[in-house]
Amino acid sequence: MDFKKFSDVKVTKPDMEALGKEYKVLCSALENASNKDEAIAAVEKEFALSDHISSDYQVVSIRHTINTYDKFYEELSGFYDENLPYLSQFEDEFNHILVKSKFRKEIAEKFGEYMFTKIDMSLKTFSKEIIPDLQKENALCSAYNKVMGNAKGMFRGQELPITKFTVLKTDKDRSVRKDAEEGFWGFYSAHEKELADIYDQLVHVRDTIAKKLGFENYLPLGYLRLGRSDYTPKDVAEYREAVLKNIVPLAQSIYRKQEKRLNIPDMKYYDYSIGFLSGNAKPIGTPEHLVEQASKMYAEMSPIASKYFDFMVSHEVMDLVAKDGKIPGGYMTYIPDLKSSYIFSNFDGSSGDVDVLTHEFGHSLQGFLSADIQVPSLRSPGYELCEVHSMSMEFFAYPWCKNFFEDQEAKYRFAHLCDAITFIPYGVSVDEFQNFTYIHPYFTHEERKAAWREIEKKYLPHRHYGDDNRFLESGGFWMKQLHIYVDPLYYIDYTIAQVGAFEFFTESLNDYKAAFDKYIAFDKLGGQYPYKELLRKAHIADPMVPSTIPSITPILVKYLDSFDDSKF
Ligand code: ZN
Repeated sequence: MDFKKFSDVKVTKPDMEALGKEYKVLCSALENASNKDEAIAAVEKEFALSDHISSDYQVVSIRHTINTYDKFYEELSGFYDENLPYLSQFEDEFNHILVKSKFRKEIAEKFGEYMFTKIDMSLKTFSKEIIPDLQKENALCSAYNKVMGNAKGMFRGQELPITKFTVLKTDKDRSVRKDAEEGFWGFYSAHEKELADIYDQLVHVRDTIAKKLGFENYLPLGYLRLGRSDYTPKDVAEYREAVLKNIVPLAQSIYRKQEKRLNIPDMKYYDYSIGFLSGNAKPIGTPEHLVEQASKMYAEMSPIASKYFDFMVSHEVMDLVAKDGKIPGGYMTYIPDLKSSYIFSNFDGSSGDVDVLTHEFGHSLQGFLSADIQVPSLRSPGYELCEVHSMSMEFFAYPWCKNFFEDQEAKYRFAHLCDAITFIPYGVSVDEFQNFTYIHPYFTHEERKAAWREIEKKYLPHRHYGDDNRFLESGGFWMKQLHIYVDPLYYIDYTIAQVGAFEFFTESLNDYKAAFDKYIAFDKLGGQYPYKELLRKAHIADPMVPSTIPSITPILVKYLDSFDDSKF
């Protein structure tokens, strides 16, 4: 659909009965197809219908999240919440017929075998028998969200929402940082029993679901649920080993530099969040100015990036500034019928605002470049490679940091790269902990905490709490990580993607144009192949193979050494 501005796009309440009928017609057309052309035509019609449903839903969800006071979209959004399970049921019925079609071979020739691999995987994760368990899993996730939605901590006699502590934790005054950390962790310590109980039940119900479906434990099922078709927990364990050997020492040297800069020889847990005594680099100028600077940057970076960034500006498919009624956070979503991406964010004046214009635009650009892939489920890869699109763009923007940070640009680049590196050991800790809990689903909360503390000592050896914080010393840190509760086994993806983005970054230092062309070619492949094959086709070294990380780290060290961070 052609559109001039996002506000022109109209949506109405879907007619569930009519949609149900449309699906029935498509199902019987596929089932009764007398030749491959008829079968393929039915499949193509289903793609178009599914794109149409998801486009309407995306538009409703965007408008509702921008203004939760708008009654019309509130009601429509509620309607979708209630009816999405039925819509996926229609699709599910179609997929059941599709995998059994007598023209399966011909359909696979047309659209690729991987489409079937994905359907087969998702069918393996479901059976009618587990419906009550899935409902229980959802209810427990809602219970977790409810506890966290009201999370408040005490700061110097004042009760504050937990989100307000982020800024206080980076205060220049050490005593403010100390009180902020104590207040923040005080919430988790006070709600420890409640949160531990929710997690315990989540682990049990996931284990039950896995066993009912015939798996040994939740791990193989969790991998299937995340669409991981060609790597296993064993590959990820080897990858964590490579991180331990090559990234952990580098991250530790970054913390030692931080100690020197802050002039705190023995950093405590409340010092880790502050990078510079002079404060973090902040972008300069209004949001409109930052968008203008981004547009200038993309114009110089590449014609294709420039074309789509300017398209997003002129078609108003970005809503960047925080306002009353808007939900917190940021995301990018793709609207198939519009062949356009949409960026949602809440600018807050921090360097994160620039990351939106690079990271989320990286996701958007991939959406545009894969728009012509006909199979909806193959337009983008799994999470571990999706984030390569976005994280790489953060690095491709390095030569233009002056546009946003002026004389603070070097400090921004230095901090950004340090954060990217030090995140990885934490990310793999979260993964190792989850592996542990699903292999031993009936361990107690105390045993889980002890396991976390051991994992932390291995990958994050600078962290020592002692008597400064007994809750953290006893292994409570994982309790703040949302993914552990509601997105099981999804976290390692960010670290794998980070390594992939490092590959593009280090190549760009050598030959920017070649690295960028390779990036565009990778974007265009979308998610048409499984993980390993997609990497091969895009000529990207697999981040999980043990030789990849050590081929990158020396270049990162050299780059970091080129800064004189004592001046920041
Ligand atoms: Zn992202």
